[in-house]
Amino acid sequence: MLTLLKLLKDGRFHSGQALGAALGISRSAVWKQLQHLEADLGLSVHKVRGKGYQLAKPLLLLDVAQICANGLCEWPVHVFDSIDSTNAEALRSIERGVQAPFLVLAERQIAGRGRRGRKWVSPFADNLYHSLVLRIDGGMRQIEGLSLVVGLAVMHALRDMGIAEAALKWPNDVLVGDKKIAGILLELVGDPADVCHVVLGVGINVNMRSTDEVDQQWTSMSLESGRDFDRNELVARLGAKLQQYLALHHEAGFAAIQSEWERFHLWQGRAVSLIAGVNRIDGVVMGIDHQGALRLKVDGVEKTFSGGELSLRLRDDS
Ligand code: ATP
Repeated sequence: MLTLLKLLKDGRFHSGQALGAALGISRSAVWKQLQHLEADLGLSVHKVRGKGYQLAKPLLLLDVAQICANGLCEWPVHVFDSIDSTNAEALRSIERGVQAPFLVLAERQIAGRGRRGRKWVSPFADNLYHSLVLRIDGGMRQIEGLSLVVGLAVMHALRDMGIAEAALKWPNDVLVGDKKIAGILLELVGDPADVCHVVLGVGINVNMRSTDEVDQQWTSMSLESGRDFDRNELVARLGAKLQQYLALHHEAGFAAIQSEWERFHLWQGRAVSLIAGVNRIDGVVMGIDHQGALRLKVDGVEKTFSGGELSLRLRDDS
């Protein structure tokens, strides 16, 4: 089915006969595969008598050679047409002994995930589903604030590509105004005090223009700018930003990044509720500390909060 898609991706008309000949199958088998393309991948195919079949819009697929041509050649890149989740594949690769660093990308995720088992909506060829695997030898300091570092790199990659309003929400979201454009999910295996691997999962909404599956306000690069983007270029730009900020973090620790992160935090000074399971703490955002923990003023007293189970929500009176 995906071979057929690769023949159609130029957005031109192709006759059923030519497609059948290229694939070594009958015209009715081509027809069946086209129906699967529409049903499984949500793509729309125009059928015109006498001309053949045409994708409703051309597709720019992920391509390792193009990623390298855009400047990111250092990391081995594994591209999947369809996968459960790029983070899950990255974790399996670590288990198989694949040498880090390496990058896992996919055209779509069938079970894309957010924090605490939540779902990340991941339609085919629209967005970026990206997991970078690093080996960490240096103990806890190298993990401190890491998901905030990744957020900053994602935000700068988006700004570089013209999404000037991209900004941060503690701990791990990138928003445009109050709409989510990217999410980050870090997963760790091994002993963080000794040698471990960390998977830096990043989902960015790139060319997605509609979906009714996301249950909160969202946006995409194309909705913000009115044009479509080449995801191969985005992978390379994101790679450059990740290299820059990970190197700074490695050399100087999170403290070197704290004030820049705060400058781009959308909710500085806002009245929020911090949700931890069934518990809720109301306060005002003061900023973050030198390890990336949230500083909240609660009943006039400053307190810090950290941990993967925390979510921040704006209060109605903020
Ligand atoms: P938190 O503040 O705890 O991070 P969150 O709702 O942003 O809350 P995440 O785990 O970061 O949680 O992300 C998962 C959530 O993101 C989903 O529950 C859904 O609401 C939303 N979501 C899922 N897919 C997308 C997408 N492609 N674009 C934007 N938002 C999405």
